[in-house]
Amino acid sequence: MVLRGGGNSVSVSCAAVNHVLGSEHEGFNASDASSQGEAVSRVFLAVSLLLSGLLIVACSDVTDDNAAPGNNGMTLLVNADIVTMNPQNPVADAMAFRGDRIVAVGAEAQVRDALIGYQRFFDLEGRTIVPGFIESHDHLFMSSGTTLLADISPFTTPTLEAALKKLSAVEPDDDGWVVAFGADQTLYGEGRGPTSDVLDPLFPETPVVVFHLSGHAAFMNSEAMRRVGLDKSTPNPQGGFYEKDSDGKLTGYLSGQPAFLHLRPYPSVTPESAVAASLDRAAKGITTSSEFAIMNAFILDGLRRATEAPGFATRVVGGYFSTASDYEEMVPRLGNYETDLLKIRFIKTWTDGSAQGGTAYLRDGYYDPTMGKGGAQGSQEYFNDLVLDIYQRGYWPAIHANGDGATDVALNALEYAQGEVGPDVSAQIRPQIIHAQVTRKEQLERMAELKALPTFFTTHVYYWGDLHYERTVGPQLAQRLSAMNDAFSAGLAASMHNDPPVTPADPLSNMWIAVNRRSSSGRVLGADQAITPLQALQAYTTNAAYQFGMEDEAGSLEVGKLADFAVLDRNPLKVDPDEIRNVRVLNTVLGGRLTYSAGVLYDRVDPLGAQVGKR
Ligand SMILES: [Zn+2]
Repeated sequence: MVLRGGGNSVSVSCAAVNHVLGSEHEGFNASDASSQGEAVSRVFLAVSLLLSGLLIVACSDVTDDNAAPGNNGMTLLVNADIVTMNPQNPVADAMAFRGDRIVAVGAEAQVRDALIGYQRFFDLEGRTIVPGFIESHDHLFMSSGTTLLADISPFTTPTLEAALKKLSAVEPDDDGWVVAFGADQTLYGEGRGPTSDVLDPLFPETPVVVFHLSGHAAFMNSEAMRRVGLDKSTPNPQGGFYEKDSDGKLTGYLSGQPAFLHLRPYPSVTPESAVAASLDRAAKGITTSSEFAIMNAFILDGLRRATEAPGFATRVVGGYFSTASDYEEMVPRLGNYETDLLKIRFIKTWTDGSAQGGTAYLRDGYYDPTMGKGGAQGSQEYFNDLVLDIYQRGYWPAIHANGDGATDVALNALEYAQGEVGPDVSAQIRPQIIHAQVTRKEQLERMAELKALPTFFTTHVYYWGDLHYERTVGPQLAQRLSAMNDAFSAGLAASMHNDPPVTPADPLSNMWIAVNRRSSSGRVLGADQAITPLQALQAYTTNAAYQFGMEDEAGSLEVGKLADFAVLDRNPLKVDPDEIRNVRVLNTVLGGRLTYSAGVLYDRVDPLGAQVGKR
């Protein structure tokens, strides 16, 4: 928003002052954490009137660039439609923050009364403020390398024909390879992917690799397979296969990461690519993202450095792989890698694979058996022991489970672990069920008993809903994809996610899907599982904050919490529900720091901005 203010600012001599103010401010938060509006805060006023009043006067004559929001200045926002997500104080039209914390939120008169003065003032002209969105299942870091590749995902090239056309224009990399990302045979209009028979005529001599949108497969042309030494006699690796046609010839479809990562790894991720990915998230109103594919110490260290890079634009909550080869050595040391923006709370594991990939564990199997026959990805005993180990180490299990069979395995393991460690330890740990695409009602009730928290992969309803209806789970179970209404009814603090890069990071679009439940062809799936716009916003704010253990810091706009918020052009709770996906993010602010601006300026000269004390 280019939050430029009135020119009052802070000089060097104010640094010490603000240090004093900062500590006083913390005392204010601690002693008055629950107060809002008019109560903001007599204690604060009484204690700090002299101090800060005098100091801001002293500083206000000095001009210096040091007064950007997020540094020392108090910022006051007025004339906004603020959705606080705090049930005690749900709507407000003004908010003030200093440093990374909210100092007051409520009616403008009350907020002004709570302030001694301020340095920045913005009239939002009726625009909406919501808490920053929390993307509860993301691969911000690991997928950031692919952002440097040509994108031929069905989101940008809806047909294979369009994808091939774009691919033809891609410049080879330094090794002479054409590399692209995002192919998905289930989403292209033609229902097929770039196998070698279509790649070879276009690229007879240039090696081509196209990474699958899911991250779990790749396509190669014949020249690429020749160069990596892959032929029809190559045995399939554990956990993957090289697809062959009916004549036994390789098709160029390499399924499962073990089938291609050793031949042609993803482009490396760097702090720079991660900063770019964080800015993409910020542009969608996201202030907290996540990385649930931290596979080893090397990746964790890269993520740590990325979150410390200048301009990194989101908080990140991480999940360390239970299969990491350095698991024993690293888990006790995960805390050493945390930064201001990075917290490692979870250990990530999987009880099944992907629905559209044919590896989900559906209790009653696939509707179309040719889609797949995925079972659990390990025995019940294996998951019992693993989840118990995670509990005993004090980490929170994040268990990927798409099918209802997989969810049974996950919940059995949680019940076992909780029985072993007892209620005191269990109470400290918030297990997460990732995806929960097909659940039965009683499973959601069991989640509530086990205090397990689902994050739903709601975007499947839109992108793969028709495939699920027709082939994966069939017409009946397709009505229960991401059964969010049942989850809310069971009392679960449910969240939802885009799982980028599998679907694009876009919370408002996802909220639209959860509220309207239409597939890309317009077919309504499970109207009775639709949630309200307010519930959808809860899923992306307060509920996700709870799942990440951040409820004291984020998810709602309250005094003492982080100034993490987004400015929207309209209020998603007031527009026609069908319009939610068209609501635009105008600005995103992370801890008082502007991380995204659509170029909208709110500057107004406030005649009161330079005044101090009551007006
Ligand atoms: Zn994922």
